[in-house]
Amino acid sequence: MSKIDNKHLPKRMLVSSKKCESLCNCGHKHEIPSIKVVSDKNAYDLLARDCVKTYAKESVLLLDDENTHLAAGALVSELLEKRSVVFKPVTLPGDPVATDKLADEIHDLSIGHSLIIAVGAGTINDLGKYVSDKRGIPYWSVPTAPSMNGYTSSIAAIKVKGVKRTLPALPPQFIYVDPRVIQDSPLKLRQAGFCDVLAKSVSDFDWRIESLLLDGAYCSLPSAIASEPESKYIDHPEKILRGDQEAVLGLFEGLLFSGVAMSLAGSSAPASGGEHLISHFLDMRESLTGVKPNLHGLQVGAGVVLSAVCYQKLASLEEKELKNSGKEIFEADARKIPSVWGSLASEVEKQFLKKRDRLMQFDSLLPANWTELKTLFGRIRTPDFFVDLIRRTGLEMTLPSLGISKDEFYLAATSARTIRDRITVLDISAHAGILEDAASETIEMLS
Ligand SMILES: [Zn+2]
Ligand SMILES: [Zn+2]
Repeated sequence: MSKIDNKHLPKRMLVSSKKCESLCNCGHKHEIPSIKVVSDKNAYDLLARDCVKTYAKESVLLLDDENTHLAAGALVSELLEKRSVVFKPVTLPGDPVATDKLADEIHDLSIGHSLIIAVGAGTINDLGKYVSDKRGIPYWSVPTAPSMNGYTSSIAAIKVKGVKRTLPALPPQFIYVDPRVIQDSPLKLRQAGFCDVLAKSVSDFDWRIESLLLDGAYCSLPSAIASEPESKYIDHPEKILRGDQEAVLGLFEGLLFSGVAMSLAGSSAPASGGEHLISHFLDMRESLTGVKPNLHGLQVGAGVVLSAVCYQKLASLEEKELKNSGKEIFEADARKIPSVWGSLASEVEKQFLKKRDRLMQFDSLLPANWTELKTLFGRIRTPDFFVDLIRRTGLEMTLPSLGISKDEFYLAATSARTIRDRITVLDISAHAGILEDAASETIEMLS
């Protein structure tokens, strides 16, 4: 093994408190995640040496799945062995799903270990940081693909009793990145990450609007942080398709910052709004329809287009056209829950009921703020802009190619707002009376 000079492997803090202070416009104190990243071809060996240094003879749980084992887990395992680290490797079957049951199994396996290292993206990372949080032990991450923004966030998406929930999780202390692994990740995962990072272009507005109407909690800091590396990947999406190193690593950086944005906000709001509900809806419906969901990011991509269509329609709606029949609209959607959700209906009803009181105020809040809202609606990029960007990464970006039927997408578009208590563009659209038209128009665009 070649000798590595530590000076050439600096761990850098993702964000500094000084920078956050200068970008905050809400005046509240933001929890600044202390995450250090090392990006180098020898990063995994540094990980092994850090394990020896920090944990000596204490045991470490190394989590991966069959796919990420091939991409990086096997090498990490080999290097840990070479450095005589005491560790227990756990390789899950390929494409695992983050359920409460699987999380409990990993939790049991983590007994007696002092650290969890997860080698992988979506599910593996969610399980690693969620179990670390429950167990009260540190978490280190070895990302294998720029496929989603969860590496740095303090939440994990876990299916609890069949319902997709975002639960508290421990962000990693350290992230060890081998740039070649990220660059060589499968195209589909890069495309998924590209769609996931685009979500912030609509979700940040969902949050802004919720804040304007209800709680005034919006701050522009998270969006400013998340948008910083945007030009590296958004200006030339073709480079994501080609696997250009600067663009793929720029996308990866964008995803890391998008996760940090959520931690800074103390919620997933800056990076997850109505567009994410579409993906969560499709994931949750698997148990009822038997249709296997597609990658999180790709489903989010379809959601981004829907949100952009909603915003475009809202921007051209006059105040006098607003429906102002909040009670009827809420009750009509609540009545549909049992037929859409079957055995999951009571869990979904609980979530939808939590926002009833806020939705009931829309009859007065929407007209009272319509002029200001319309200015915001008009600032959102058009649906064509997003479809074009996504297609330039080589993704066909049609519902059939995503494995989503028109009927299922229509149901997702018109019912997904019931599964979570957050206010999003889907709620505004439903109460303004344009959601059904927006759903049909999106289906047309993605046919
Ligand atoms: Zn702030
Ligand atoms: Zn996402």
